[in-house]
Amino acid sequence: MKSNFIEYPETKINFELFGFILIFATFMTEEIRQLREILSFPKEISIISHRNPDGDAIGSSLGLAGFLRKLGHNVKVIFPSDYPTGYAFLEGISQSVIFDLDPKGAREAVDKSNVIFCLDFNGLDRIDKLGENVQFSKAKKILIDHHLDPEPFTDIEFSDTAASSTCELVFKVIDQMGYRDKICPETGECLFTGLITDTGSFRYGTRPYTYEVAAALKELGVDDYKLADKIFNSQKEKHLRLLGHCLANRMEVMKDYGVGIMWLTRKDYADFDIQRGDTEGIVNYMLMMEDIKVAAFVLEQPSIIKISLRSKGDISVQEIAQKYFNGGGHKNAAGGGVYASLQDIIDKVKKVMPLYLPKLPI
Ligand code: 5GP
Ligand code: MN
Repeated sequence: MKSNFIEYPETKINFELFGFILIFATFMTEEIRQLREILSFPKEISIISHRNPDGDAIGSSLGLAGFLRKLGHNVKVIFPSDYPTGYAFLEGISQSVIFDLDPKGAREAVDKSNVIFCLDFNGLDRIDKLGENVQFSKAKKILIDHHLDPEPFTDIEFSDTAASSTCELVFKVIDQMGYRDKICPETGECLFTGLITDTGSFRYGTRPYTYEVAAALKELGVDDYKLADKIFNSQKEKHLRLLGHCLANRMEVMKDYGVGIMWLTRKDYADFDIQRGDTEGIVNYMLMMEDIKVAAFVLEQPSIIKISLRSKGDISVQEIAQKYFNGGGHKNAAGGGVYASLQDIIDKVKKVMPLYLPKLPI
């Protein structure tokens, strides 16, 4: 079809050539050069992500694994705890090792590795007991992560808190090594998963480069429409009933401070047959209310009270999570875990929030 626009291939070739020269002349940092060197011979590689892996943890780990296998490496992906079943369609997930289900297999994989990638977490306490194996391993350790304040437990760090997701950074590292063409559609789908889930479908945490990565992955063959459908429209009836229960019976609004609080009791866990991952995303609903700046979701899990915090704008829930709830994360999305009673933590939330939010006129 004739068009009034400049034909795409012309601009593409020039852009790619320009990009190629720039990458190799300017942007190939010492770290990228070191990593290319490490990956130039087949290695035993472990990729580890954090406990309760989310879309970004899972997508970045599987995406990096897919790419490394293309380079000829022997790769194991290890998660400290099981993944939500909604991600079971992602390429390579069934070959991953879950420490909670197979601690021996997970430890053996780490111990025989010459290279360990740590993805989407910034401190060894986020990977439970596997932290010891990683700490004492002689392997080359590489961090790829976008959380604030990474601890110095790796040899090479690709840490960028301005990145939307670890998936964005995994793409960047692969691309800067000059290996973009090694990303197949299945690997691209894994990486796109973290882009979509960590940005709430490109609604927050993005920067211009995030969209460049999305565009590149789409060009490499990712069907983002199908992918989003698989990720977001695969809920079971019980998920929607649980959401309804949370909104109708387990929500309190501190109108004078713009805070929404939600909670689930141990009995709710039994009544609604709540499994790992079933509560993901529910906390965000509170931010849909006008004037709500912070949302807190308090979960009475078997041995610990988990808290998920979300905020809008300048309020750092990362600081709140770190200072009061033994946790961390990002400025607008953080979490923690405390050994206390559910009521104590709800009371604590109510006490702490006024320290961070101005009282609103009602
Ligand atoms: P979520 O509320 O979805 O569980 O987690 C939101 C963010 O906070 C994620 O980036 C996650 O890594 C971080 N986060 C959640 N729980 C904890 C925790 O117990 N400790 C730390 N350091 N970060 C957490
Ligand atoms: Mn992430």
